[in-house]
Amino acid sequence: MSTVEQVRGGCLCGAIRFTVTLPTLFCGHCHCSMCRRNHGAAYVTWFAVPRSQFSVDSGLDQVTRYESSAHGSRSFCSRCGSSLFCVSSHLPDLVDIPLANMDTAIDRIPESHIYFDDRAAWTVVGDDLPRLGGPSGLEPIS
Ligand SMILES: [Zn+2]
Ligand SMILES: [Zn+2]
Repeated sequence: MSTVEQVRGGCLCGAIRFTVTLPTLFCGHCHCSMCRRNHGAAYVTWFAVPRSQFSVDSGLDQVTRYESSAHGSRSFCSRCGSSLFCVSSHLPDLVDIPLANMDTAIDRIPESHIYFDDRAAWTVVGDDLPRLGGPSGLEPIS
């Protein structure tokens, strides 16, 4: 009998709590300018799961959705302002979740830098992970 593994996360104030059922599909650092501004950080470490493996356990009434582009929306806690989920009509069956909002480790560690050519000039990266970019953010760059 297999065990369904779940991990939990939440916003800073704790009003919003959510559960993710493993396995995840992706984990990487996004250097795009929208992530940078939305999270107030050099880059944002996201992981993705199918929407069917994601559920909000409490605080759904505090989840505010913002249309951040023609094809995507970002959600945040209306009480504490924590930046949370990101969804795109390009990949409608997935939800992106910030790794930093999880209580514990997930089933993978960050695998790549995406939109790396969009990074802030002051961002210094010292790891050996693949650095991807271009229009899709996912193409190899040198
Ligand atoms: Zn909150
Ligand atoms: Zn981004």
